[in-house]
Amino acid sequence: MARVMIKCPESDKPVYTGMNFSYTAFDSVQIDEKSVRCAECGHVHYWRRPDAYLEDDGGES
Ligand SMILES: [Zn+2]
Repeated sequence: MARVMIKCPESDKPVYTGMNFSYTAFDSVQIDEKSVRCAECGHVHYWRRPDAYLEDDGGES
């Protein structure tokens, strides 16, 4: 599995969205607009799938 990350538009740092996908599932999944409370700046950011990227969580995929 991999963690779905976005980049905070205010601090420019990676922020974990709270979602996890395998790399193959992420290729085909439909994700509506989501919101996440940013751990970096404390604001709520809205994001869509094109804004997101995967980061390996170190576990088995
Ligand atoms: Zn932020």
